[in-house]
Amino acid sequence: MSCEGVGLHSGAPVKMRIVPASPRCGIVFRRTDLDGFQIEANSHNVARVSYATSLMKKGVLISTTEHLLSAFVGTGIDNAIVELDNLELPILDGSARPFVEMIQKAGIRKQRRPRTYLKIRRSIELKEGNKFIAVYPSDKYSVSYSINFPHPLIGRESLEADLSDGDYLRHIAPARTFGSRQDEQAMRNMGLIRGASRDNCIVLTEDGVENPPLRFKDEFVRHKVLDLIGDLALIGRRILGKVVADRAGHAMHTALVSRILKDRTLWEESTLDDKDPLPASTLDPVPSQAV
Ligand SMILES: [Zn+2]
Repeated sequence: MSCEGVGLHSGAPVKMRIVPASPRCGIVFRRTDLDGFQIEANSHNVARVSYATSLMKKGVLISTTEHLLSAFVGTGIDNAIVELDNLELPILDGSARPFVEMIQKAGIRKQRRPRTYLKIRRSIELKEGNKFIAVYPSDKYSVSYSINFPHPLIGRESLEADLSDGDYLRHIAPARTFGSRQDEQAMRNMGLIRGASRDNCIVLTEDGVENPPLRFKDEFVRHKVLDLIGDLALIGRRILGKVVADRAGHAMHTALVSRILKDRTLWEESTLDDKDPLPASTLDPVPSQAV
């Protein structure tokens, strides 16, 4: 399955292809423009994290991984190889929906190996000023997010999504990234959002939206849930736990990932019994995968 587009921050044109992978492979990125250099989607390779999450290994960068990684979690894909011919993933429409559609079109193949979960055993809470993120023990994976954004259309929004209930595909995947006209120049000066357009993000004006309609009245907090799921995927295993975030961002999301992985007493590896409806999965191998 392949697609092409531009990177949100670099503005660089990029072709991307997703291919099936063997069990235990996890999600692996490959830079086809650099002799297939591989970067595993895990916390060891997390690099710059500010307006997007980037991976780096031996100086090679892969930027803005969160929307695709989120789509993999939402569709139940554990193992896949993602080939890119540039340094940033395509932003497409600014949501995870095009990635979900690509995965669904390819088909999902259940693998023989049972899925290994990271089951949270003890509560973990991180605070930084008025930002907060935590994870609590639970038998399922759920995410709840609150934001408080000083804009007449946003203000305080909260949302809870249960990933075992199919909430993701309907309520989270279509939510697009957003930015404001007021911040645009400052961000461009920092070398960011060079690929941003009205087609790939919600553009906020002082009191409204430049490119309506919104896909949901609370599309903003839904996108934050989407980002959080994508960033937590860097744990490398599906989580069993209840995640709660308030005004967090990529930096706090990935801080939680590091905190969890650093302390082995906080979690245990767990497989559900034979009745697990979700064994490890990859994409269905399809005959025509040429880009
Ligand atoms: Zn995002």
